[in-house]
Amino acid sequence: MKMILRQCFVCRKRDSVDNLIRLVVEDGKVVRAKRRMGGRGANIHKECMSQLVSPKVRSRAFKGVDWGLVE
Ligand SMILES: [Zn+2]
Repeated sequence: MKMILRQCFVCRKRDSVDNLIRLVVEDGKVVRAKRRMGGRGANIHKECMSQLVSPKVRSRAFKGVDWGLVE
């Protein structure tokens, strides 16, 4: 099977989608994509999630949305 690579918006390294978590905006809120969800998405490593406390890092992915508590 072909490996699909995506870029993590925090560390900007490319990695297999299997190692990345996909975040999407649903109803103006950032959530983890549970299934195949359309629309704008951002990929992030699990290890990079801790850096989401920084508004600067957050704005790289989505602006003007409610980040709430993305776990
Ligand atoms: Zn990363």
